[in-house]
Amino acid sequence: MSMAMDTIPTAAAANDDDTLNLLRDSAQDFCARALERGRLRGLRGATPPFERARWRDMAELGWLGVMRDEARGGLGVGLRGAAVLARALGTVAAPEPLVETAVAAMRLLDACAASDALRAGIADGERVVVVAPGAIDGDPFATVAATQTSRSPRLRGVLDAVPLGADADAWLVAARLDGVPAWTLVEAGAAGVTVEARPLADGSRDARLVLDDCVATLVLHGEAARDAHDAARASAVLCASAYQVGLAETLLTMTLDYVGTRRQFGQAIGSFQVLQHRLVDAYLALRLADAVVTECCATLDGGARGAAATRAASRAGHRSAESLAAIAREAVQLHGAIGYTDECDVGLFVNRALVIGARYGRADAHLARYAEAITIAPPATRSGEADTSLADLEPPGGDWNALDNETFRQVIRQWHAANYPAELGKLRRRVRWAECRQWYARLYQRGFAAPGWPTRHGGMGLAPDKLLIFIEERERLGVVRTPDQGIIMVGPLLMQHGSAEQQAHYLPKALSGEHIWCQGYSEPNAGSDLASLRTSAVRDGDEFVINGQKIWTTMAQDANQMFCLVRTDPEAKPQAGISFVLIDFATPGITVRPIRNIAGDEEFCEVFFDDVRVPCNNLVGKLNDGWTIAKALLGFERFFIGSPKQCRNALARAAELAVARGLDADPVCASRYARFALDVESLEALYTSFADQIRRGEMPGADISLLKIFASETFARLSEFILDTGGAGAAQLDGVDTQAGAVDALFPYYNARPAPIYGGSNEIQRNIIAKAVLRLPSA
Ligand SMILES: Cc1cc2nc3c(=O)[nH]c(=O)nc-3n(C[C@H](O)[C@H](O)[C@H](O)COP(=O)(O)OP(=O)(O)OC[C@H]3O[C@@H](n4cnc5c(N)ncnc54)[C@H](O)[C@@H]3O)c2cc1C
Repeated sequence: MSMAMDTIPTAAAANDDDTLNLLRDSAQDFCARALERGRLRGLRGATPPFERARWRDMAELGWLGVMRDEARGGLGVGLRGAAVLARALGTVAAPEPLVETAVAAMRLLDACAASDALRAGIADGERVVVVAPGAIDGDPFATVAATQTSRSPRLRGVLDAVPLGADADAWLVAARLDGVPAWTLVEAGAAGVTVEARPLADGSRDARLVLDDCVATLVLHGEAARDAHDAARASAVLCASAYQVGLAETLLTMTLDYVGTRRQFGQAIGSFQVLQHRLVDAYLALRLADAVVTECCATLDGGARGAAATRAASRAGHRSAESLAAIAREAVQLHGAIGYTDECDVGLFVNRALVIGARYGRADAHLARYAEAITIAPPATRSGEADTSLADLEPPGGDWNALDNETFRQVIRQWHAANYPAELGKLRRRVRWAECRQWYARLYQRGFAAPGWPTRHGGMGLAPDKLLIFIEERERLGVVRTPDQGIIMVGPLLMQHGSAEQQAHYLPKALSGEHIWCQGYSEPNAGSDLASLRTSAVRDGDEFVINGQKIWTTMAQDANQMFCLVRTDPEAKPQAGISFVLIDFATPGITVRPIRNIAGDEEFCEVFFDDVRVPCNNLVGKLNDGWTIAKALLGFERFFIGSPKQCRNALARAAELAVARGLDADPVCASRYARFALDVESLEALYTSFADQIRRGEMPGADISLLKIFASETFARLSEFILDTGGAGAAQLDGVDTQAGAVDALFPYYNARPAPIYGGSNEIQRNIIAKAVLRLPSA
């Protein structure tokens, strides 16, 4: 295994289920030991196109019974366990047919009580049985007709693209028996079966089966046959998706290794920024697919059936196929000509990807299926009296964490429903302090102003899982962001780095809203290159004298305090001479000048400092150590910026406009909408994977920037879709006229523009991931 493969963090690397973690470790170990890539060339054209000995090893490890529960001798690890195995097999492009038999056939046979012997044969590795539906996208029972003679049905018809073809021991054939769906078992070599082998891109074969009065055994008959097909198909698509994620991971790691060593123009090609950014996008595609597949498998293990299971499979199938296609494209391209040769292992994985994509559905096929199943509809508005019975509940002993999660959720939901002034949510711009201070006072009085702060400082002291519930409930209701830098930035920072006096002075005032904070980092010539900032602080007795200018300071016109980065040592290296100071805006020499944004709103300001005298006691942490302090805040900021809230709201706005303007019946609009809905669901899955990490008490690494990139770029694209759905009225400041009233199409567009810029621009985030996560070389 390559270095990079060991070091790229993936969402699936760990979770809170020990059994799955053990299974993953043992699967990775087996694949690395017994299924090395070198064997793949030797297996091309072989009969069967996989190793029987390795297949028996897998049976002994219990893998072929992965879908069976423990009582029946299976592993009892559910679909999530099967996906763990499939993903590991994908990383070595293993041709062993785990998904075809141990998942698809086994799941189908789950529905028939009489098939115990057959299932045992599959689990033991004795019998390779595959499913042969009539069509993967149409009616699976359409192409074979069965007639019942004495006890055995006789089959006539043709089945295309049957996996493994002549290399299977038996096929589970979908047929229509006297007009009713049925599953039948046809043994290899049975009279009346002609197998026409079709060589495939990866050196294996599938087959066209021609059935001419062939004798079969009836396995399942009636509507249960259709349900069994849907369940087997959903499970197989999910595991094939996991397999694709494995293929994609290896393609990416091979490419990372290659660009780290291949030199052109005197340097490793992996040091070129254009390639680094493309590799970060490939990595993002991998992480999205991983997160979606993990979530969808859990959905099925949680009991989803029928339409819900099909929808989960479409989501995972789409995301994994699309991600794999993009990564395969980059893998060939970034290897240059060698990537196009048969000598290079990239080709083995690309060819395997082609076969899996054709067998389980390429991205567009899954998108079409998903689109068919959803309707474009804005979320229903809540009506009737909200339940407020728990709104004023006090936790036992003042400890919110002592409540169970559901009760806590209800307290937060009900209190907000009863107290939040809904008119705040209707503003088409960032809310001003004068407009929301009363609301903030209500939050403060209830003790909800600082959910993440410890109780000794007046916060709620929420554990990570409760904090996420708090955030989720507020987002659900669309609660606006009040000036919160004091709570989310300054407070935590002072608790960690501030002196006892600073904590005693500033924390209560930040909590009560007496102090409103703004962030003074950027300067006219220090944006992305923040370390080049020049606002100076020169010591004079017990004071710093500050001169210079900050810019893009959000809502500085409403603030009365600034946390600020200043240069205290002009001789030191850029990052080493910076300090972190707190500045009271009441100090003489400060001028705040609002700047209008392209929407015409005064959202940020320039702040000028002219001999501003700040007590040295306002220095936070050590002199010249401000850079380290400022950096500590960024991880959580990126998690909050990466929240799916804006995208979810934007999708709802697009739906509202599309329905109001009758575009929901337009196929182009419907397809674009479905695509965006998939993206928003993928973002949610990625967000959940980071939230799970935080819930486990782990600090997210530099890969958290992926969230910020995908959230802000999806939002940016969605905001343009909203303009499209708004039609000719989209640029009207007072909204698009619809029968339900005016709907604003402009605000999301304006709101989405700066998201890829602030909080560290997306290009800078890509630079960070390239270096800190993918470990790509420097120029
Ligand atoms: C709405 C909004 C609110 C803000 N609020 C605040 C605030 O409250 N406090 C505060 O201090 N700042 C704030 N900012 C400033 C923000 O942090 C900066 O805008 C951001 O860091 C980018 O700096 P810049 O605008 O100078 O762009 P530049 O650094 O000049 O970048 C211009 C373009 O070049 C790209 N670029 C620059 N360097 C590289 C590189 N090495 N590799 C690849 N591409 C590169 C950038 O990604 C960008 O696309 C805010 C910005 C906005 C838009």
